[in-house]
Amino acid sequence: MSFPYEAPVSQSLFDRASAVTPGGVNSPVRAFRAVGGTPRFMVSGTGPYLTDADGREYVDLVCSWGPMILGHAHPEVIAAVQEAVGRGTSFGTPGAGEVELAEEIVARIEPVEQVRLVSSGTEATMSAIRLARGFTGRPKVIKFAGCYHGHVDALLAAAGSGVATLGLPDTPGVTGAQAGDTIVLPYNDLAAVREAFAAHPGEIACVITEAAPGNMGVVPPLPGFNQGLKDLCAGDGALYISDEVMTGFRVSKAGWYGIDGVRPDLMTFGKVMGGGFPAAAFGGRADVMAHLAPAGPVYQAGTLSGNPIATAAGVTQLRLLDDAAYEKVDAVSAQVRGLVTDALAKEGVAHRVQAAGNMFTVFFTDAEVTDYDAAKAQESFRFTAFFHSMLSQGVYLPPSAFESWFLSTAHDAAAVERIAAALPAAARAAAAATA
Ligand code: PLP
Repeated sequence: MSFPYEAPVSQSLFDRASAVTPGGVNSPVRAFRAVGGTPRFMVSGTGPYLTDADGREYVDLVCSWGPMILGHAHPEVIAAVQEAVGRGTSFGTPGAGEVELAEEIVARIEPVEQVRLVSSGTEATMSAIRLARGFTGRPKVIKFAGCYHGHVDALLAAAGSGVATLGLPDTPGVTGAQAGDTIVLPYNDLAAVREAFAAHPGEIACVITEAAPGNMGVVPPLPGFNQGLKDLCAGDGALYISDEVMTGFRVSKAGWYGIDGVRPDLMTFGKVMGGGFPAAAFGGRADVMAHLAPAGPVYQAGTLSGNPIATAAGVTQLRLLDDAAYEKVDAVSAQVRGLVTDALAKEGVAHRVQAAGNMFTVFFTDAEVTDYDAAKAQESFRFTAFFHSMLSQGVYLPPSAFESWFLSTAHDAAAVERIAAALPAAARAAAAATA
């Protein structure tokens, strides 16, 4: 694949980065490995736009992988951060901002009676799993292939091989022992979960699932799936953990819980709740959370947990996210989905747009995608051509066919117009692409 446009400053930054950082990036999703070419180094963001180091402006459909739901540099968030930063950056003591953010979360999400703040989604899921094991006294964890819960050792077992139902580590550095208590099952397959419970009576601490997965592309739960998980857990004495790091405060005021109403025992959050800063959380039933140190014996801690700048940004962002804000993001998401479908259909490109609230993915396949195998069966080479055409026309998509696209309240008519203008050529590029 050739790249018809240049980004010399990004290229030179990438060369420098590659000398001092593995692969030139601090998180693999930022590299363009899946699509080829040079990752764009961004220098600023305003509303729906990002500007790269070469001075090119893009409509941003990544939104920092979800958090920037009010767009970049929202004036009220920036003002709150500036105000907080003037008072100091970290105290290592309790602070009022932590209480406010925790109260905001508890007020919005009814099953969350108590919440603990951490600094990343990975920490949130890791801690939730430890707590579930500590609470139940059981070792095993069920997760689903294609669901990502951060780079927690035990959760990086993602059943690369279709034959493995017991966790095989997906990455060097994770030992069999670390992944050995992880049972990986196909997503949306309740019968498989039922069988796993039957095969391991009294051994399963929890089922962890993305509330509506976005990490194999957007693959919403089939009707009844989440409720079925909840019921199986309740029947066995295991905990049902809903990972809302991506969906939380993004798809509704109460995240995916606000849409499907299935009540988890524990939930995890990140992304939107930090307003662009490192803040995340896990929370849920008070009787379970009471097992966490210092109230209980399950240890969990963090030097920067509840950082005053992160909590100021998070509280401000959450308070701005009223019903009208979600209506706006939902509407612009529906509009963009419609435009993409029209453009691809016009060129006869097989595709399927799958949404979970305002998150969505364009799969290059005719077939419904209900699990990871189906997601992988798409013609992702068409996405590569589509992606580079959009990029060259100033639209920044996630650089992978297996990611959600994200919009914000700042995506206005002008931003949508730019997307619409880029789509016909991108659809033609997708149609002409070969494997
Ligand atoms: N859980 C889900 C559902 C996620 O999407 C992610 C990150 O994308 C994580 C957990 C991990 O969060 P973080 O990258 O903040 O560690």
